Parts: sequence; structure tokens; C-alpha cells
Amino acid sequence: MRGTRAAARTEVFSPHSLEAAVQLLAEVKEPVRILAGGTDLMVEVETGRSELPGLVLDISRIRDLRFVDEGDEGAIHIGPLVTFADVRRSALLREKAPALWQAAGLVGGEQIRNAATLGGNIMNASPAADGIPPLLAAETHVVLTSSEGSRRIPLFSFFKGYRTTVAKPEELLTEIVLQPLAEGAHAYFRKVAPRRAQAISKVVFAGRIHVARDGAAAVLKTARLGIGAVAPHALRLFETERLLGAQVLTPRLIEDAVRTLRSEIAPIDDVRSTADYRRAVAGNMLRAFLMAGLTRSESGKAGF
Ligand SMILES: Cc1cc2nc3c(=O)[nH]c(=O)nc-3n(C[C@H](O)[C@H](O)[C@H](O)COP(=O)(O)OP(=O)(O)OC[C@H]3O[C@@H](n4cnc5c(N)ncnc54)[C@H](O)[C@@H]3O)c2cc1C
Repeated sequence: MRGTRAAARTEVFSPHSLEAAVQLLAEVKEPVRILAGGTDLMVEVETGRSELPGLVLDISRIRDLRFVDEGDEGAIHIGPLVTFADVRRSALLREKAPALWQAAGLVGGEQIRNAATLGGNIMNASPAADGIPPLLAAETHVVLTSSEGSRRIPLFSFFKGYRTTVAKPEELLTEIVLQPLAEGAHAYFRKVAPRRAQAISKVVFAGRIHVARDGAAAVLKTARLGIGAVAPHALRLFETERLLGAQVLTPRLIEDAVRTLRSEIAPIDDVRSTADYRRAVAGNMLRAFLMAGLTRSESGKAGF
């Protein structure tokens, strides 16, 4: 296998079935790395951030892991091998998961989007991954599968720390289950980076709000907010959501929410940005999203 930092001899196992893949993970005694699109893993190896072990499990040929379906219960089910290009091609995701659809169009360039999978974006667990905040705002669960069976975990509790997750080495991510955007609700996605394309996010934010009119008032029925690049891992903004829940949306409430968000995140200074800038930008994104909600509701539109 190519890669300057591969083990002396790296074997690649490329099964066509999930059963064969989880069987391998159950049986091998040596470390294994899972490979999907390779756009994170191979960069890690080439830059020396990690070494390829003697065994690589290439899951890219497991066709059953590449699907986008609407379940009978109304949830949207996505296979981990769905690429960002697949997300962009999906009319279902465009309509019912518009923030994810928008995020997918801003990941890398066309070649990266053709190879990079949504599953890899989640499992790589970068705090700045663009696919994760829209999934957090869509109340996503992930399904992990081993030879022993499957378990389903809310995405907000999946990340443990910087680039770490609760997944065990013998588990594969096999499904991503998200809630569709409710009728009359509005979704938002915004990525701030040094350039408009091919750049790692300084802050990445996604939200869903549902505003209803009650006489002259705009009542925020629900708010679901996800954010990245402002903490060791992407976050669901529960405190800010709680403050906003079932409240009349006013400029004062919006400013309270901006303050809460800024205290809920824990950005750092690094090569890409400063903590102060990230905190300011994150608050501005929430304000822009909520102000749009207020303005549109005042103009008499029921939804967005
Ligand atoms: C030039 C360039 C630009 C990029 N731009 C962006 C960008 O704008 N936004 C962004 O968010 N990312 C960006 N990325 C990062 C990368 O493309 C994404 O994170 C991508 O989604 C990773 O998916 P992959 O299939 O390539 O993962 P891989 O590299 O194959 O795997 C990533 C990690 O996930 C594990 N893994 C993958 N699938 C599974 C699974 N099903 N079960 C268990 N473990 C699994 C692998 O073992 C590995 O640790 C960029 C990368 C490059 C090289």
C-alpha cells in the first residue's frame, strides 16, 4: 500500500459484506485501521500524525452501507459510506435536512466531496468537521455495529474529547439516523473559514428553529443548535436551547441567548484563530439566525 508511514507490510482486507467486516474486527488480535474514503486517514499517515498498522479494513466496497432512505417512522437513515457528493445529489436531504445539504457543498473541493464520507467525517471526530453541527441540530443518533450486535447512541453524547468517541475498536459506524426538518421550521448553516472553499472552519454552526405566531408575538416553539471548532469536540448547545425554549422571540431574548452561547463554548487560540474571535463569531451567527426568525415572523410569514 502507498503511504510513507505504513508498517513494513500492510495488508488491506476489502470485504463486500458488513458481516465479514465485523467478523474480522472481532477475530483479529492486532490493531486494525478502518478506511472509508481515506481523505482523513491518508493525510494523517502522509503527515506522520499516525502510522498505518499491519492491517487495514477497507469498508468502501460494502454497498449496503451506502444509502439514503426515509424510514416508516419519518426519520432519515443514511449509510456511513454516503459521500458529501451523494448528500448534494439527494433531493430528500435537500428538502428535509437542508443544513446538512448546504454543509456538504462547502466540504473541500469536488474531488474530496466525491470520496469523503459522512461516516468518516463523524468517526474522525474533528472538532471542526462541517458535517457534524447540522447532524447535532437534526437530533441525530448513530448506530454502531460489532459481531455482538448493534447499539444506538445520540450524537451529542458520542464524542468524549478531542478526536475521541465512545466507539470501541471492534465497532463500525453503520447508520446515521436524523430527524427531518419539521413543517414550518427553518434550518441554518454557516461556516466561517479563511476562504470560501477548501478551508478548515474557524467556527461552524447549524440550527433549526420553529417559530409560530401568537397574535402579535413570535413564539419560538423549538430551537436545536449544533456548533463546531469552539471546544475539544462539536457540541449541541443545550443551555442556549433551554433558554430559548417556548419563549416569545424578542431582541432582548436574542441578546440573552448570544451571551449564553458565548459562555457555553470553550474555544482556544490556535493557528487558525483566537478564542475571542471564535466566541464573537459564534454569537454573531446565532444572532443572525434568530433575527432572521424574528423578522420573517413579523412580516407575517408562518414559516420560512
Ligand atoms: C483537501 C481536503 C479538504 C477537506 N475539507 C474538509 C472540509 O471542508 N470540511 C470537513 O469537515 N472536512 C474536510 N476534510 C476532511 C475529510 O475529507 C472529511 O472529514 C471526510 O468526511 C472523512 O471521510 P473519509 O471517508 O475520507 O474518512 P477516512 O479518512 O476513510 O476515515 C476517517 C476516520 O474515520 C474512521 N472511519 C471511517 N469510516 C468509519 C466507519 N464506518 N466506522 C468506523 N470508523 C470509520 C477511519 O478509521 C478514520 O479514523 C478535508 C480533507 C482534505 C484532504
